[in-house]
Amino acid sequence: MEHILIIGATGQIGSELTMELRKRYGNANVVAGYIPGAEPKGELKESGPSAIADVTDGEAIASVVKEYHIDTIYNLAALLSVVAESKPKLAWKIGIDGLWNVLEVAREQGCAVFTPSSIGAFGKDTPKDKTPQDTLQRSNTTIYGVCKVTGELLSDYYFNRFGVDTRSVRFPGLISYVTLPGGGTTDYAVEIYYDAIRRGAFTCNVKAGTYMDMMYMPDALNAVVQLMEADPSRLKHRNSFNIAAMSFEPGQIAAEIRKHLPDFKMDYQIDPVKQAIADSWPNSMDDSCAREEWGWKPEYNLQNMTVDMLVKVKEKFDKGLIK
Ligand code: NAD
Repeated sequence: MEHILIIGATGQIGSELTMELRKRYGNANVVAGYIPGAEPKGELKESGPSAIADVTDGEAIASVVKEYHIDTIYNLAALLSVVAESKPKLAWKIGIDGLWNVLEVAREQGCAVFTPSSIGAFGKDTPKDKTPQDTLQRSNTTIYGVCKVTGELLSDYYFNRFGVDTRSVRFPGLISYVTLPGGGTTDYAVEIYYDAIRRGAFTCNVKAGTYMDMMYMPDALNAVVQLMEADPSRLKHRNSFNIAAMSFEPGQIAAEIRKHLPDFKMDYQIDPVKQAIADSWPNSMDDSCAREEWGWKPEYNLQNMTVDMLVKVKEKFDKGLIK
């Protein structure tokens, strides 16, 4: 792996994955792909090359891949679950037509491709607890989920039919402090830390008792690198691996914050769109295949993540980086 293109490099995951891969493989070898209106800024812009890479334009992706001698593409372009429900056709255009463009370029130019899937790839009839790696995915009620299931199948198709080295994980809700999330169902678990520091109180838009899988960004970044570096002969699965770190409901994250900020208060104002999506997703996934096939093991749980998030978000406020 020497020359990398990250498509969607300015999003919640891309902004951190780009910097992590630059640290590991060299700044000059990692191109930050973006679309006009979402240009890289600051360290992301200064530390390495960047190029326009719109997945809906296959020819443009092909020419960036050629120009920078790219051998590995991380395709993070997508509309997240809540945004996708308001623009289903665009969600498909980016998530599936766009993925097809990326896979075609990869086939023609010999690249490996990483395209994240999600807990959203499961539906309301999927077993909710210890959701198995291989299980029912037909009862999907969101366009986000429809795109994720299709994306998994299309990526496996390109591997089986053309030998393109496609790999992927089903990310849980990701919690991070660098870039705010882009309109997903698990965003509350990031916003709660910002509001805890900002005003000591939070209004949660998902019901008490709604369990979902979550993960701290450092573990997510390690998962991506570990999977892409894994010995292919050990991989029985490809698209996509369940990975899990912690599962909690809103009351538990609030209680954890209260251990550090005893006066923290939380009330609820339920968003029906988010709640319906959350209710169709697993409570917790079984990630034993990822553990066996490429050594997946998370480092963060709700306790040590909360300590780190509160420190890092407070630093941002103290430096005036956020209000
Ligand atoms: P995000 O919304 O923060 O970022 C998406 C990026 O895609 C943005 O930089 C946006 O500019 C870019 N983009 C939009 N349209 C594009 C196009 N036509 N061509 C190229 N780029 C385009 O999303 P994220 O949270 O960083 O998620 C990245 C991937 O990980 C997505 O596939 C998402 O479904 C998946 N995922 C994320 C989470 C999470 O909690 N963040 C959880 C599960 C799965």
